[in-house]
Amino acid sequence: MVIKQKRLFWQILLVHLAILLLTILVVSWFSFRTFNDFYLAEKGFDLENRANLLKARVVELLLDNDQFRLRKLVVDAGRSSGTRITIIEPDGLVIADTNENPEEMDNHRTRPEIDTAFSGVPGKSLRFSNTLGQRMLYTAIPLYAGENHGDERGDTEVVIAVLRMSVPLTTIDGALADIRARIVTGALLAVAGSLILTFLVSRSISRPLEEMTRGAEQYAQGDFSGRMLHSTKTLASKEIASLASAMDQMADQLNNTITTIVNQRNQLETVFSSMVEAVIAVDREERIISINDATAQLFGIDRKGSQGRLVQEVIRNITLQEQIERILTTGKAFEDEIVLEDSGNGDTYLHTNVVPMHGGNAEILGALIVLNDVTRVRKLENLRSEFVANVSHELRTPITSIRGYVETLLDGALAEREDAEEFLQIVLRQSEQLEEIIDDLLALSRIEREAKDGQIDFEQMPLKSILEEAVEICQPKAEENDIELLLDCPDDLQVDINPTLLEHAVVNLLHNGITYSEAGQEVVVMAGVMETSGIQKVRISVKDRGIGVAKEHLPRLFERFYRSDRARSRKEGGTGLGLAIVKHIVQAHGGRVEVESAVGKGSVFHIILDS
Ligand code: ADP
Repeated sequence: MVIKQKRLFWQILLVHLAILLLTILVVSWFSFRTFNDFYLAEKGFDLENRANLLKARVVELLLDNDQFRLRKLVVDAGRSSGTRITIIEPDGLVIADTNENPEEMDNHRTRPEIDTAFSGVPGKSLRFSNTLGQRMLYTAIPLYAGENHGDERGDTEVVIAVLRMSVPLTTIDGALADIRARIVTGALLAVAGSLILTFLVSRSISRPLEEMTRGAEQYAQGDFSGRMLHSTKTLASKEIASLASAMDQMADQLNNTITTIVNQRNQLETVFSSMVEAVIAVDREERIISINDATAQLFGIDRKGSQGRLVQEVIRNITLQEQIERILTTGKAFEDEIVLEDSGNGDTYLHTNVVPMHGGNAEILGALIVLNDVTRVRKLENLRSEFVANVSHELRTPITSIRGYVETLLDGALAEREDAEEFLQIVLRQSEQLEEIIDDLLALSRIEREAKDGQIDFEQMPLKSILEEAVEICQPKAEENDIELLLDCPDDLQVDINPTLLEHAVVNLLHNGITYSEAGQEVVVMAGVMETSGIQKVRISVKDRGIGVAKEHLPRLFERFYRSDRARSRKEGGTGLGLAIVKHIVQAHGGRVEVESAVGKGSVFHIILDS
């Protein structure tokens, strides 16, 4: 860039200089020529006038044939006027000359000025004289016999001689050299002056342009702090100043536009980064343009490092690759699914929304893939359908049984009174079982709904009273099974609870304790305050020494309809929902449930609440 600016400066300077020199050269040459011609013409006239002044006297002496006086006149007049005077006869012989002896001189008849003069008109010539060895100006006039009388000449009058005056050109050359020297001096002064002016003009044009170029370079680097009008003001012409002002305006606008774009980009970037959905933008070559934090987290990849790399290099998933290929070939948006196989916590299900990215002229520039983690929804869906299947199964068993016995009765068993009564007892038990299942299901959904809607009321009250109530409720069943129920709870232990629900939970645990113990054993309800990591909690534990639960069942024990000992549960009329209800009640209280158990040694179920 700098080289170009200098070139502009030199360009202007050299062009100006060339024009100047050419002009001066032409003007000098013309003026010199004009002076030269004028000077020679003047000198010619002067010589002719001098000849005319002398001619009467010369004719007189010629006519008198007074050679001596003629030669004296020619010598004296010539020397006194610094002019060489020559008289030539019609045959070309020189009869008198200021400088030379006429006898020794050549025949002059063919000299151009003399030839012209003999034809009757004054002749002039400028040439090199061999005699004198220098350039001479010659003027010759014809002499007539009647010249001395001042008579009118007739056409027929004969030229008797020619009077020639000549001066060496050295004197003229000297004068012309002087004029030339002046012209050259003037021209040199003009060149010097113009050179200075041209230099200033060139600089005044190139300097602001250099400044503007520097400014424009700064703009190109994104620095809009400088202003051109200010920096170019001192030297700039009106046009350059308006260009600078226009560029300043452009810089202002660019600055505003860039600031707006940067702000918008930052906003978009914030939205993009904080999106819960994983987003991948790829170009037509399947290279990653950008991914957001959610994508980086989902696939365990580096967000910045993945930019510009092929998507299959970064995310190794065939389905994703196929979907990207599909969108780039068809250009039609679609929805699909990707399953990321087992990453420790089971498969991850991703719902994909794949859309093309179009350029200005509708060509496909790339694609955008939005991935939504639907694993939870999927699991919930699975749970729901599993639950529906379980409920149907649980209800079907007693219904099938009832139907079987009723059909048997209708088929004639009614007649046998004993059988009929036994069958009807079974029908009754199965109906009660059905009712219990339905009651438990209703209870469960009510607790869930009320907990979700915040409709459960809590009150601060002594825990012991609740536990006593629960023990009392379970006492008949305990006695029936020959089980002793024991309670160990401090009198002053206050808790913030919903008494009905908590009692329901403890009753369920006691029921299980009684159900899964052997006759003669005891089931203990204990309550107290415990401290974990500096936080005080209230713990209610129901402990038995019954059959216990195998380790592999423990994680699923609180699921609906999950039974570790299906046969015994059925025999005892269990619904498989008791522990699920306990869990939901405790969760509604903001607490948690835990179980410790070993087969053959008994179990302890804990309800842990905030104190
Ligand atoms: P159920 O109505 O079948 O008792 P629950 O939800 O109350 O249903 O219990 C789920 C399963 O947990 C039971 O079927 C049983 O196998 C097991 N279980 C619960 N409590 C005990 C316990 N105190 N001792 C041994 N097993 C138990």
